[in-house]
Amino acid sequence: MTDHASGASAAETARTQLDRALDHVDVRDGIIGELREPHEVHRVSVPLERDDGGRDVFVGYRAQHNNVRGPYKGGLRFQSGVDAEECIGLSMWMTWKCAVMDLPFGGGKGGVAVDPNELSDDEYERLTRRFTEEISEFVGPRRDVVAPDMGTDAQTMSWVMDEYSKETSETTPGVATGKPPVVGGSYGRAEAPGRSVAIVAREAFDYYDRDLDGATVAVQGFGSVGANAAFLLDEWGADVVAVSGANGAVYDEGGLDLDAVRDAGDDDALVAPYDGGDDIDNGDLLTLDVDLLVPAAVGNVLTAENADDVDADVIVEGANGPTTVDADDVFADRDVPVIPDILANAGGVTVSYFEWLQDINRRSWSRERVNDELDDEMTDAWGDVVDAYEDDEDASWRDAAYVVALGRITDAHESRGF
Ligand code: GLU
Repeated sequence: MTDHASGASAAETARTQLDRALDHVDVRDGIIGELREPHEVHRVSVPLERDDGGRDVFVGYRAQHNNVRGPYKGGLRFQSGVDAEECIGLSMWMTWKCAVMDLPFGGGKGGVAVDPNELSDDEYERLTRRFTEEISEFVGPRRDVVAPDMGTDAQTMSWVMDEYSKETSETTPGVATGKPPVVGGSYGRAEAPGRSVAIVAREAFDYYDRDLDGATVAVQGFGSVGANAAFLLDEWGADVVAVSGANGAVYDEGGLDLDAVRDAGDDDALVAPYDGGDDIDNGDLLTLDVDLLVPAAVGNVLTAENADDVDADVIVEGANGPTTVDADDVFADRDVPVIPDILANAGGVTVSYFEWLQDINRRSWSRERVNDELDDEMTDAWGDVVDAYEDDEDASWRDAAYVVALGRITDAHESRGF
């Protein structure tokens, strides 16, 4: 999907970010060329029989960017406008994300260009199963492991796993992560991306000698990532003063009652029936005077047009790609730290890795173990990025995360033989 404000696709943004990071780390030319392009992009037709007997054909994709450190890994997005460029950009971010976290995975991303709200439950299931059939020869627990992303969830992954298992005549839970625990999913996986956003915010506040207790927070997007981050930050003493859904936002400078907001909302739709605060515009949420801003909805929301008006002291990215390259420049000029997506929301793929291990071992971990190990992995990765940040006074936090990732990917390429 193209960003209408900046005109940049996810792939263009990802390549520009890579080019910028290369000013801060030595990578051999041959390897740079390899990292700028995906290994493969599969495009498949996905015919769907409608409930009324009619037929439609949708287009699905799976971009496989790089697997030098392990199988391709990344989500499936069901959303209108999904295209090859979007999947390529997102698959590049998955490669860096897995490397920042030091997980033995590469990067992939895929999806179907469809608005899931226009499908009945049965149509959604049939579409998922047919898409899985079409991509089954490219994916697998040791080739490419899929996961939820926008428009997909644990139930989708259960159908992917079931269909793939039928195709291969073998129960294969490791082909998809983010499944329900009853079919090999991990406890804590659904909450993990939001949890990692909160953990990284906690570490960033500590780094800047700021108190999270009493800090004001605005969260754009009250879906899986935003809501889980908001609840955890609230538990740790922060005041979540604003959250938004697809159709609007609520603001209460005294702090929102998050349970009431959740109960008032219908999934991530308008949180309007909540009467404890003021309704504000979704865009205005981004420019509130807060200590912490978490853009956790969609890509390309912080742009050259609004970056000067952003009044938050720290930004922690919950969504993939919420900040355009031009907005990054503005934040750098203004000394506003932007803690990047490839670190901050990496809790999702990290618990996906835990799930994959549990599937291989056929043994599940307790929620407590998952959360403890996630905290350890996140603080270790944070420490690695801090080291890279402090080693290079010209590097942004995004550059520093890329430096960590590119170092590991380059070493793997050199070691395997280019
Ligand atoms: N879709 C999530 C992401 O963008 C999770 C990917 C995964 O768990 O493989 O990080």
